[in-house]
Amino acid sequence: MEHTQNQAQILIDKNSKGKKRDWRGRKIASLKLSEVFQNLDYKPSMVERVSSCAEALRFHKQPDGRLKLYQAYFCKNKLCQMCNWRRSMKYSYQTACIVNEAMKQFPKGRFLFLTLTVKNVPGSELNGTLTQLTKSFDRLFKRKKVQANLLGYLRSIEVTYNEDRKDYHPHIHVLLFVRGAYFNSKANYLTQEEWAELWAKSLKVDYVPMVDIRAVKDQGKGLHGAILETAKYPMKPFELSIENAQVVDDLYNGLYRKRQLGYGGLFKEIKKKLALDDAENGDLVHTTDDSEVSDGTKIVAIWNATKQNYFIK
Ligand SMILES: [Zn+2]
Repeated sequence: MEHTQNQAQILIDKNSKGKKRDWRGRKIASLKLSEVFQNLDYKPSMVERVSSCAEALRFHKQPDGRLKLYQAYFCKNKLCQMCNWRRSMKYSYQTACIVNEAMKQFPKGRFLFLTLTVKNVPGSELNGTLTQLTKSFDRLFKRKKVQANLLGYLRSIEVTYNEDRKDYHPHIHVLLFVRGAYFNSKANYLTQEEWAELWAKSLKVDYVPMVDIRAVKDQGKGLHGAILETAKYPMKPFELSIENAQVVDDLYNGLYRKRQLGYGGLFKEIKKKLALDDAENGDLVHTTDDSEVSDGTKIVAIWNATKQNYFIK
């Protein structure tokens, strides 16, 4: 009997849909990342920060049995899968809040998705290209015809790695909220070619960059899902290994001190009004506005390096 009583219990945390949250998998990934950083001779303090990410998790057990995180240390490294998971939850929650409020204020507004790209670049040029990309984006969105019916936008910068070419593909995803008038006349509407032309001018390049623009057609219940699907947090998990340490190094240096998320116009105002915290560098414990739910039995889960899992203390 005593044995079973003392036996530590593995952490099981399920979301509202009953799906298990993969704390373990993400913790293993962040440990892997710290290992790669160490191999790259990054500062020991930084390696240490990443390796201690989410070591202890403190939850309140709700009456319905669900766990609510109330305390944990997160390293906030841009490449940390644990932190990026928290960021993406926070970002999609905030996007939903902002979109809801914008639609309340402008029920006739319409949504567009815009993807802006540049030519692929080698790792060494990534950081400079991202700076150029942000500047060009600002130039594009200051243009008269873009401004004309624009109510608000959110943009996120994403970088993907091309395994075959061994180079990087930086691009910007934009969710635009425009007045209905955008679709009413030729003078207001911007075709794909026009977007591409304006983007080329803003980028100050002599090639025609790839641009994708599409309207969100579903104005019903599916709208939110469609928006959130596209307005995803920009960092996708990628393969981490000592063998592809160069990719980690390139991405880390490329994204160094870069803001990946940006808001404009009405969306920026709403974000400020709702006092939404910064999803990139802010608090990663509270990803939604859950300040009212706090009580419940306290549960502590600690990472066990030997057994490679979280155990309830
Ligand atoms: Zn982390």
